Amino acid sequence: MRYSQILLPTLKESPAEAEVVSHVLMLRAGFMRKLTAGIYTYLPFGLAAIRKVENIVREEMNRAGAQELLMPMVQPADLWRETGRYEKYGPELLRFHDRHERESCLGPTHEEVITDIARKELHSYRNLPVNLYQIQTKFRDEIRPRFGLMRGREFIMKDAYSFDVSDEAAGISYMKMYDAYKRIFTRCGLEFRAVQADSGAIGGSFSHEFMVLAKTGEDTIVICKDCEYAANMEKAVVKLVASATTEAPADLEKVETPGKRKVDAVCDFLGIESSRLVKTLVFKADGNPVAVLVRGDHEVEEVKLKNLLGVADVEMADDLEVFNATGVPTGYLGPVGISIRVVADQEVAEMRNFYVGGNEKNYHLKNVNFGRDFQVEAVADLRQITAEDPCPECGGRLEMTQGIEVGHVFKLGTGYSQSMNASFQDSDGQEKHFVMGCYGIGVSRVVAAAIEQNHDENGIVFPMPLAPYTVIVLNLGIKDEALTAVAEKVYRELQAAGLEVIIDDRDERPGLKFKDADLLGIPYRLTVGNSFLKSGKIEIRRRSDGITEEMTPDQAVASLHARISAELKQQ
Ligand code: ATP
Ligand code: MG
Repeated sequence: MRYSQILLPTLKESPAEAEVVSHVLMLRAGFMRKLTAGIYTYLPFGLAAIRKVENIVREEMNRAGAQELLMPMVQPADLWRETGRYEKYGPELLRFHDRHERESCLGPTHEEVITDIARKELHSYRNLPVNLYQIQTKFRDEIRPRFGLMRGREFIMKDAYSFDVSDEAAGISYMKMYDAYKRIFTRCGLEFRAVQADSGAIGGSFSHEFMVLAKTGEDTIVICKDCEYAANMEKAVVKLVASATTEAPADLEKVETPGKRKVDAVCDFLGIESSRLVKTLVFKADGNPVAVLVRGDHEVEEVKLKNLLGVADVEMADDLEVFNATGVPTGYLGPVGISIRVVADQEVAEMRNFYVGGNEKNYHLKNVNFGRDFQVEAVADLRQITAEDPCPECGGRLEMTQGIEVGHVFKLGTGYSQSMNASFQDSDGQEKHFVMGCYGIGVSRVVAAAIEQNHDENGIVFPMPLAPYTVIVLNLGIKDEALTAVAEKVYRELQAAGLEVIIDDRDERPGLKFKDADLLGIPYRLTVGNSFLKSGKIEIRRRSDGITEEMTPDQAVASLHARISAELKQQ
């Protein structure tokens, strides 16, 4: 490819709209341009990187025995009504009417469509197991589209669905995908972890997320330093250490805390540790207020709360909503005499003689005791795990790190096949519901995550397998016949050797060419400049470590061919 001919509009400055480094670099390196919130045009260079991921995904899915198909993006509401999701899915599902007033939606995921295929086309146990996948544009009307391709409204996903005769067989299909995902992300050249993930209503450890490790990741991952345990913080179970206190319950007292509303301020004022105070936080669970009790030094894990309450969505209530629901100003809410539903974190039930809000401005209560002074609807593990907690599996030491979710494998069971009445005849002659699994990869997000993990102050540092080109040849002597002849010759020879090469044949200053080559993150740079006229040598530079070497053009072609083939094979 010739730089002078490709649409590769690089930018010198960081665009104001971008907050994270991958978004900045993808705009600066001309990967894409925004059409409207969360919706992008992929320009040739960006699309080439996406295609690299797609190809690896496709090869490994096929290798694992899955079959590619392509489902429609526009889907009828009636199909979604069969599973109840047309109503339940929430505003991420874009619903609309066609010209005949038929209700429709844009596919955010394809369980309904694929289950419809299965019930119509798969009739016997002899057809199973089957795993069907597609690589396709999804639409989710995300509340906060951001970070470019990381969280778009329109994005490219690989989604696969498996159909099995039994739970056991579905477990095998699940493990096949788990292994395929490991190969995929290894082949992409990424540092990643598979972690146990929240599986909502299904429970159990039948859901894993694949996380690309990056400081800027939105997800927090908990990893045990002493065993294999790794989980998304949303899912990580807090091991309850029963309290050994022998303290006798003391009399309840009202204490004045003038103007002290925040945990730290109250604790400073009262001269107590924050672990002696219980916070009462109000959440909206599908819109209805629920108070959650958690120790002052802990945080509520919203996913655990959502699962306990069995609702689709929980969100922190704002000050006005808290006041409207309880009649108590923010900062003074407590469980004693509260008028709304209350649930408590398990550790609150172990505490003795603690402090809570007094349900009255400027007052807290002292020597409060669970059961004696107030009741709750449920006690459960509702808080976020911390690095100080023991590993839930081996009791060992935990470590927290940040990750970007690029893939998700999930055992679905028979939820969809039952609600859509999708069944097959088993070997015993009985009609049974398919046992399903679903497996997603955010193909476009993988590219963003790869950049988030691999960049420096000068630009992208592509892992070799994802680089749109593996070599960039810089011709620094466009107006010099001898230099141009050498540059063009190495370009042709590298191409003939099967490498993906771009030649910077623009009539631009050397400084700009160097800057753009760094920005684009192409793994090897070959520079043909004035020094060739003296020494007969050209320069090879590796993007990842900046190591340079000088050699003759022939040596350079042979050396690059050998190195790049070896590096690609390693993956
Ligand atoms: P998230 O928690 O990030 O919203 P999700 O749980 O909604 O993800 P899935 O429904 O499991 O995601 O989708 C499969 C994969 O698609 C995810 O692992 C992720 O890589 C990708 N993905 C999901 N939403 C988006 C988005 N808005 N933009 C880009 N990729 C996405
Ligand atoms: Mg989502």
